[in-house]
Amino acid sequence: TMTRYLDESDIMMVEEGFTTRDLLENLLLEVSQGSQEAFFVADLEDVVKKHLHLLKALPRIKPFYALKCNRSKGVVQMLAGLGAGFGCASKAEMALVKSIGVPPDRIICTSPCKQISLIRYAASQGVQLMTFDNEVELSKVARSHPSARMILCLATDDSRSSTCMSMKYGATLKVCRHLLETAKEMNVEVVGISFHIGSSCADPQLFTQSIADARLVFEMGAELGYKMHLLDIGGGFPGAEESRGRFEETAAVVSSALDLYFPEGCGVEVIAELGRYYVDSAFTLVVNIVAKKEVPLDQPGSDDEDPGGKKSFVYHLNDGVYGSFSSVIFNNVCPIPILHKKPSPDLPLHSSSFWGPTGDGLDCIADGMELPELHPGDWLIFENMGAHTMPAPSALCGAQQAQIYYTMSRMAWEAVQLLQGKLLHPEEEDRESTCTPLSCGWEITDTLCVAPVFTPASIM
Ligand SMILES: *Cc1c(COP(=O)(O)O)cnc(C)c1O
Repeated sequence: TMTRYLDESDIMMVEEGFTTRDLLENLLLEVSQGSQEAFFVADLEDVVKKHLHLLKALPRIKPFYALKCNRSKGVVQMLAGLGAGFGCASKAEMALVKSIGVPPDRIICTSPCKQISLIRYAASQGVQLMTFDNEVELSKVARSHPSARMILCLATDDSRSSTCMSMKYGATLKVCRHLLETAKEMNVEVVGISFHIGSSCADPQLFTQSIADARLVFEMGAELGYKMHLLDIGGGFPGAEESRGRFEETAAVVSSALDLYFPEGCGVEVIAELGRYYVDSAFTLVVNIVAKKEVPLDQPGSDDEDPGGKKSFVYHLNDGVYGSFSSVIFNNVCPIPILHKKPSPDLPLHSSSFWGPTGDGLDCIADGMELPELHPGDWLIFENMGAHTMPAPSALCGAQQAQIYYTMSRMAWEAVQLLQGKLLHPEEEDRESTCTPLSCGWEITDTLCVAPVFTPASIM
């Protein structure tokens, strides 16, 4: 297969130090005369830095990217070029990564409950790694994809993460022995254990519990004659700029749990399947106010008093929960806008709500915000908008996906080219030269010393 990585012409190259906000100002100057469509600025340098930071913070972990989080072309091609693997939950996702030339041994089919057509498609594409959490799935796989390498997905305590997954996915410890025995009877190979603590997990200690559980199931498997060698610790790492501290804390917890339960040299390959971590902070969304209405202020018991000039406004935006704000429904988040026109600080604040363009009563982005009076044509900026903000076309209710402007500094681009060259032709490098600093001096340098960064073949 031809590998199709990102092309320079897809990216707006900026000077080192030129921020997303600077670029955004330029774009708004350009578009303000013409289109008022919503758009994203996607800082691919941020994605690259996240990848390198992960390799540095958790050098034992081979990163996979959970495609469902954001399947925009720039992100997917960039991560493919950097050697990440991909977690795909649908045929469309698998076809997407196949189309850019990702080899099948870097793809995991991550839905534990798959339609048979998806199992067959994976088989036809040479994708062998798949998760399961029930007996029915094993018999489907035994029939439709007998050479699959299965990963048993454990339930986790997700009561403290923003989306609850265990209700839907994951086998409890109690049923694992039975599932492993059944797989043996059906001649289905089980190569490892996975779990996913859920998105935006509040408590990194959940990783310790789940890694300990996984160790128990590895032992259970060994008693039954299995030689499992893969641990998939799922996602749940935070990705917003403000969550850096929590990322470090999570990485430290994971690192010590691995040292304890799966020490280096134990023969188990550890992978993670990160979504939000990679993309959250890279994307900034810019939307326009298309309409405005003043509505009666509900102030119980204050009808005869002057509420101090306070009013209540409803604003209609040109993007909503069926578009780029789907995270409002998906993750229960309340997006906070940054006003593009800086208001003067002495303006009165009014109760403000923001609505999307559909007529649907659910299409409410935010409610009860205290903001100065805004006007149609004003721009609102939302940061940390990379996760679950690009719904599949079918979910857009006929609306258009907001355009994405990809950006990165030329220096970072050159560093990525060098890194890609090293990943594609590792045989041309001896170990010493892998550690020589890059001529461009970008911070990629010391991470390259952990090369070979990712040798997918070694997972198998
Ligand atoms: C969505 C998902 C992930 C990624 O979750 P993030 O919190 O976005 O990192 C990982 N594993 C599975 C099984 C998932 O469904």
